[in-house]
This record gives sequence, C-alpha cells and structure tokens, in this order.
Amino acid sequence: MLIDNHGRTVDYLRLAVTDKCNLRCFYCMPEEGIDFVKRKELLSFEENLRIITLLAKEGLRKVRITGGEPFLRKDIMAFIKNLSNVEGIEEIAITSNGTITAKYLDELQILGINKINLSIDALDKQRFFEITKRDLFDTVWNCYKEMIARNFEVKLNCVVMPEKNIEDIIPLVKLASKDPVNIRFIEEMPFNGEGRTHDHLEWNYVKILQHIENHFGKVIKLKDPKNSTALNYKIESYKGSFGIIPAYSRSFCGTCNRLRLTPTGLIKTCLYDNGIFNLRNLIRAGANDQQIVQAIKEAISHRYKDGFEAENNRKGNASISESMATIGG
Ligand code: SAM
Ligand code: SF4
Repeated sequence: MLIDNHGRTVDYLRLAVTDKCNLRCFYCMPEEGIDFVKRKELLSFEENLRIITLLAKEGLRKVRITGGEPFLRKDIMAFIKNLSNVEGIEEIAITSNGTITAKYLDELQILGINKINLSIDALDKQRFFEITKRDLFDTVWNCYKEMIARNFEVKLNCVVMPEKNIEDIIPLVKLASKDPVNIRFIEEMPFNGEGRTHDHLEWNYVKILQHIENHFGKVIKLKDPKNSTALNYKIESYKGSFGIIPAYSRSFCGTCNRLRLTPTGLIKTCLYDNGIFNLRNLIRAGANDQQIVQAIKEAISHRYKDGFEAENNRKGNASISESMATIGG
C-alpha cells in the first residue's frame, strides 16, 4: 500500500497524456495556446505503462486518463488497451472535452471502460463558444447524448465563472431530471495559463449551492463516495444528481488519495504543488524498477497536508501560472 505521511492511502493516479488541446477554455488556456511540449519531452506510453505496472504492485487501483485532450494523443486507444491489461488496475476512467470522443465509444465499451467525464460549461451555444473559443457545442452535445444512450456512466464537468456561465447552472442541473447523469460544478482555480488569480472566489461552493436552492428549494444531500472531491446532491424525482467541487476552497484534502503524473513526467502529490520530481528524467537516466518505486514512495512520504500548504511551498516560490492542460485537472 502507498500510504502518505498523513495516513492517507494513495491508490489513484491522474495521468495527463498530453498538454495539447483543440479547445481554448477561458479558465484553462489562453486563446493563443501555451508552449506545448515537444514529442520527445513527453513520457512515452511504454514509460507510462512501466510506471503504472510498478505502482499497481504497490496498491495503485485506479487510473484516470486526462490532459490536455487525451484523444488527441496518437495511439491513445492502443495505450488504453494495454493499460486495461495491467494486473491490479481495477478502474480506468477518462476526462475528455467530447469533441473527438464519440468515435472511440465502441472500442471503449469493448474494453469495459464506461466512466467518462465530459467537460461542458454551457448549454447555450453562444456562451459555449465564448468560453471555449471553438464552435463545437453540437459535437460535444451529440457525444453526451450518445454516451447516455449507450449507458456510459457520465459525469459532466462545469467550471463556474461569473459573467460567463451562471445562466447555465440551472439548465445543467435540469439535465439530471431525465438523464442518469451527475453534473459537477467546479470552483474556478487559477490554472489558466495566464497567471490570472483572484484573492476572493465569488462563486464558491456555498454560493453555487445557494443559487441552486434559490431555484429548486432545499435539495437532498447524498452520501458522498469515499475519497470524493464532490459534495453530492439530488433533486426529488430526478434520475441523475449533481455535485459541487470545492476545488479552490480545498475542503476535501483530508481524504485525498491522488497522485498526478504530467505529460512530461513530473510527479505531483497535490494539484497545487509545482512538481515534486521528474520521473521521466529518472527513468531516462537508467533507474531500475526499485529506484523508481523508491523515488515515488519518498515523494508520497513527504506529502503536503493540503492544497494550501502545497501552494505555499511551491518550488522557487513560483506563483501559479501553469495551464490545467499541463496538469490534467
Ligand atoms: N480536456 C479534457 C477536458 O476538458 O475535460 C481533460 C483535461 S481538463 C484540464 C480536466 C478538467 O479540468 C476539466 O473538467 C476542466 O473543466 C477542468 N479545469 C481546467 N481548468 C480549470 C480551472 N482553472 N479551474 C477548475 N477546473 C479546471
Ligand atoms: Fe482543453 Fe480541457 Fe483545458 Fe478546455 S479544459 S482547454 S478542453 S484541456
């Protein structure tokens, strides 16, 4: 078992396979894009599989594939297939923007992968365009409908932003009246690739819930799954549910079971740290399996208590300026 210095079991890896993306979400990436990493700087899929195979022997059970947009990476399906054969990995999930995802649904179902989180920040086409800078709402919407029709376990991610998509919160919740979907409203974090920060987050989880209850009346609190980052709720008679993720308020750190690996091989033990060490460099310097595992265990044994401590201890006192596409969310 991988247990950190605060007694938390780490059994979940969030793997960002690329930083490239075909959208330019306001909260994630500037319109001109970011300095995308070169192919040789990416961890190869062989290197990823080696790391995951080693960690699975130590107790890793779940991997989420994310990015950037994971389906933009060449040979992603072959990688997912190999990943599904790694002994010990019980769950593979994917986070995607839904723009090119639909054509992979057959293969994903064959592999038994049915947990997909789609990002959709607005149900209004124009607002979707203004947030993502791309006119792809219909494509994403059709992908969502297709996934529901095929009984995928779908979660929708919506980052809540003042003056951008407040009007979409209620229509998004209403989707759960007929669809068995979980819509998650995420507090906006400062990982926008432009160093844009806010001292005070206006639309925090309290305000989001208040806004929903102002419309629907008191909602039903659901029991949250173990290690959930979302506070989950339901509206009477609805098929689906909704969640609120206090990603900026960071109230869930006490049960955090996650490790992150970036496209260039940085190990992160918290979303808010700026990388503990580079695993790719260690591997390419010829480290053996035992040394790789030891280095990861060392990082886990010095984990920050929470996201605030991690942010206050960023290497070089660097303030947050990275894009979420380089982290994976
Ligand atoms: N491209 C895929 C997508 O958008 O679903 C996967 C990568 S994206 C970085 C993963 C998740 O991070 C998405 O749900 C996105 O909404 C969320 N995200 C990105 N930037 C964020 C920010 N600044 N604050 C909160 N969530 C953010
Ligand atoms: Fe791309 Fe996802 Fe970032 Fe949007 S949130 S720019 S879809 S990586």
